[in-house]
Amino acid sequence: MCGIVGYIGKQKASAIILEGLKRLEYRGYDSAGIAIQKNGRFEVAKKAGRVEGLIKSTPALKISGTSGIGHTRWATHGGVTDANAHTHLSSDGKFALIHNGIIENYAGIKKFLLTKGYTFQSETDTEVLCNLIAYHYQKEPATTEGSRFLECVRKTLRHIEGAYGIAVMCSDCPAEIVSARKGSPLILGVGDNEYMLASDVAAIISRTQNVVYLKDGEILHLTARDFSISTLEAEDVSPVIDRVTWSIEDTDLNGSAHFMEKEIFEQPAALENTMRGRFAEDGSTANFGGLNISPVDFRQIDRFHFLACGSAWHACLVAEHLIERFARVPVEVDYSSEFRYRNTPLGKNALFFVVSQSGETIDTLAAMREAKRKGYMVLAVNNVVGSTIARESAGGIYQHVGPEIGVASTKAFTSQLLVGAMLALYIGRMRDMSFSDGVEYVNALKGVPDIVRRTLEQAPHIREIAKRYAHYHDFLFLGRLSLFPVALEGALKLKEVSYIHAEGYPAAEMKHGPIALISENCPSVFLVPSGEMFTKVVSSMQEIKARKGRIIAIATEGCELPEGVADEVISIPACHEAVLPIVATIPMQLLSYYIAVELKRDVDKPRNLAKSVTVE
Ligand code: GLU
Repeated sequence: MCGIVGYIGKQKASAIILEGLKRLEYRGYDSAGIAIQKNGRFEVAKKAGRVEGLIKSTPALKISGTSGIGHTRWATHGGVTDANAHTHLSSDGKFALIHNGIIENYAGIKKFLLTKGYTFQSETDTEVLCNLIAYHYQKEPATTEGSRFLECVRKTLRHIEGAYGIAVMCSDCPAEIVSARKGSPLILGVGDNEYMLASDVAAIISRTQNVVYLKDGEILHLTARDFSISTLEAEDVSPVIDRVTWSIEDTDLNGSAHFMEKEIFEQPAALENTMRGRFAEDGSTANFGGLNISPVDFRQIDRFHFLACGSAWHACLVAEHLIERFARVPVEVDYSSEFRYRNTPLGKNALFFVVSQSGETIDTLAAMREAKRKGYMVLAVNNVVGSTIARESAGGIYQHVGPEIGVASTKAFTSQLLVGAMLALYIGRMRDMSFSDGVEYVNALKGVPDIVRRTLEQAPHIREIAKRYAHYHDFLFLGRLSLFPVALEGALKLKEVSYIHAEGYPAAEMKHGPIALISENCPSVFLVPSGEMFTKVVSSMQEIKARKGRIIAIATEGCELPEGVADEVISIPACHEAVLPIVATIPMQLLSYYIAVELKRDVDKPRNLAKSVTVE
């Protein structure tokens, strides 16, 4: 949440920062702002709404100057207004600051600063931090100008509770930026005679692929010539420069109408990448290079805990089903935000997996730290290489699906399902799964890209269905066993991108309450696989039909649905049980996408949402 961009170099900073903000806009789009430093003063342009609006309505692009900072906001404190947009200036005009996160003790500090004569133009917690820096600065002796700026920021941050990623400029120090993080991501791009700061690599890769990932508690001091990193305790840090593998093309629409559409149709290739090089030579199990735990130790684990939020939590519920089914090891799945405060009793030989596409989800990061503090090994499933969660985990599995820009997760979700299926295989083969069952499982997984490709061919048919159903205000999504979490994900997707109320339930639970919602005005989407649950699910469908509910059935090809039980049928190819959740997800993604398009929603930037949730 929230995008931060900073630039120091020889080029015109405003154009580079605004371009960076556009690429980070999926992280927050309540407002946008920019501040450029020139001749000892700040030129500030900021506005509620999108970056495009800022560019159109202000002369921001014309502001010259070769250093500056910019921000896209996801509001936490204070409404979506021009005044609350970042950049914020201190009331003496000396400091300009952008911030991602929440300053939890802002109210007490604000009270104190008011008594000292500082004034406030916004309702944000951020402006308080900016004025506190100004307060410390004016108290500090004015002997060593350059470091005085850095030291005042350091001193101020020691008084701050909460989470932050910040970038600050001081009017006394032209072409310098001080930046720091605790809980919110920050990356330094090291370019050719220039430096860029950003919340994630999308803003940087058009200029450089060389990056330094800042760690929590680190402060970066940037000048036009060099940079240094130190800690809040003023210890020097030797920077490690990494190379980003994504390219700028990966973050472009490349002809698609929306990122969500692009990412849905990228899934065959994305899932291929998740699996690449991860099967054993004998073709009977999965292999993971980065788990950093020996098979002997892994064999001792008698309970797995999965922690995640949102769609990733649904993927964990599917993993629970598959691991318990194929490996016969108990699995617990928790919302990260609940786990960290729940203080649940944990077993002796438990292992944790934390799942987060961005690897920056603050609740999951905090939950992971809690599990580590209790002495457990934590492995991570992330898409973003070098993310905080990836770095703080003992090991893990990268998803390798490339950048996901659409706020509603699609390819990252199915890739998490795939990783879960591969883990079930890996753990199962360490226990009772036979060689031949393993080979059959592996072959099924290898067929995933092709089967997903075939499912995507249903797109025109699903688009027609979407046109007929876009006017409804309520939907139920129903599935059983491993398809229950898929039903939850289907309902979430529809809510996220179309703002239609939807709920997911295990199909048989529907009669314990939700059936009261059913009428001709509330359609149900049923997941109807062939196999042991088929007749049970069909009975649930009959119960809905008896109450005049319309039904969209996502059913295995060749299933004999009784006459009249479904109003619409979307066929999915028959497949292995471990692959079914992935295949069943595809039509629901397309249905949500096309309904949202039909309703002219802002598909990639749904209201109130943002990607990479870095606030609690
Ligand atoms: N708490 C700050 C605000 O509401 C920053 C939010 C963000 O991360 O965008 O303005």
